[in-house]
Amino acid sequence: MVICSRAILPAIPLCKDRSCNLLPLIANNYAMNTSTHTPRTIRFKADERNIFLHILTACNLSCKHCYINKEQHGSRQLERQEIVRWLRLFADSKKTSNVIFLGGEPTLHPDLAASIILAKELGFQTTVDSNGYLFHDLLEKVTPAQLDFLSFSLDGPDAIINDPIRGTGVFATCTSNICRAIAKGFSVSVIYTVSRKNIAHLHRMGELLESLGVKKFFIQVLGLRGKSAASDSEATSRVSRSEWLATVPAVAADIARRGVHVTYPKVFLEEGEPFECAGNVAENYFVFPNGRVYQCPLCEDYPLHNYEIGEGGLIATEGLREKNFFGLNIDEGCVMNKLLQPDTIEYDDAGRARYRISCCLLKQEVG
Ligand code: SF4
Ligand code: SF4
Repeated sequence: MVICSRAILPAIPLCKDRSCNLLPLIANNYAMNTSTHTPRTIRFKADERNIFLHILTACNLSCKHCYINKEQHGSRQLERQEIVRWLRLFADSKKTSNVIFLGGEPTLHPDLAASIILAKELGFQTTVDSNGYLFHDLLEKVTPAQLDFLSFSLDGPDAIINDPIRGTGVFATCTSNICRAIAKGFSVSVIYTVSRKNIAHLHRMGELLESLGVKKFFIQVLGLRGKSAASDSEATSRVSRSEWLATVPAVAADIARRGVHVTYPKVFLEEGEPFECAGNVAENYFVFPNGRVYQCPLCEDYPLHNYEIGEGGLIATEGLREKNFFGLNIDEGCVMNKLLQPDTIEYDDAGRARYRISCCLLKQEVG
């Protein structure tokens, strides 16, 4: 078993079985080495189906920016037979299909391992997004051949930054389990949600990822959902456009230079770049344990879901729904962003939008 050591730098866990070559942390050094890593936009793929399957909404943590909304999505845990039925509902052997097991904390579900194995048998590429606690001995119950990707959420390069956001002791537990998962051969990634609380420390993640041996890194933007949507929330510390653009692309390029594949949201479209709403051109289903199925994550705090899962399968809902917004064409880009987060858009003196907001599902990749 791999044990993480803190002997060299107290704030950074090191896997003992890796030869680590840590340099001192140098703030803002990322701007020096960005020239060879140009980001690419990951276009939506019509022949790909992504199922974001929330198998429960319970969690052992209470993160400041938690997006879970029990009022809208309930507090129940899916029964094993429901997971089987729902996976079969979305399985399509003619498409590249991905299932991402989510919560709450999905590893709290005692049937997660069995669900991953079944999903694999049905032809899905499988992913679990975990807060790092890996309950129910997940790593002992599935193999890297059955679980294609295991993602861990970390919101800081050390406990001093991460734990005030995610909880006391979370950094140590999460990084220790990252080491265990890598040692067992799992393909591990880390997800970092950027806010005012941690954007200044994003550049330090490269050092940490390298020391842990993590090869994939996802940067997320703090969403306006769940707790983050509360106006008095500490987590309402979304970064501005200028902060995002001044930091994220350059840091991503620098982390990529270390051999890590980095993905981050596009957020702001460039001049002349086409706008596409994923609801029109991609197949994404955000499935919740109360049976609601959304196609747009920005709609998740509202009863706007396009589908519901009932006894008869996937049923299209009626009335005002997400799909009614997908076809609207506005200068600002994403309609739901304009409705829910109008303060993210700037206008010139003539009232024209200075830039367009991309679909929140559009990503950039580098590395
Ligand atoms: S953000 Fe994730 S890990 Fe944190 S409390 Fe919410 S569900 Fe749990
Ligand atoms: S975020 Fe905007 S562009 Fe993307 S699916 Fe939702 S409504 Fe469409």
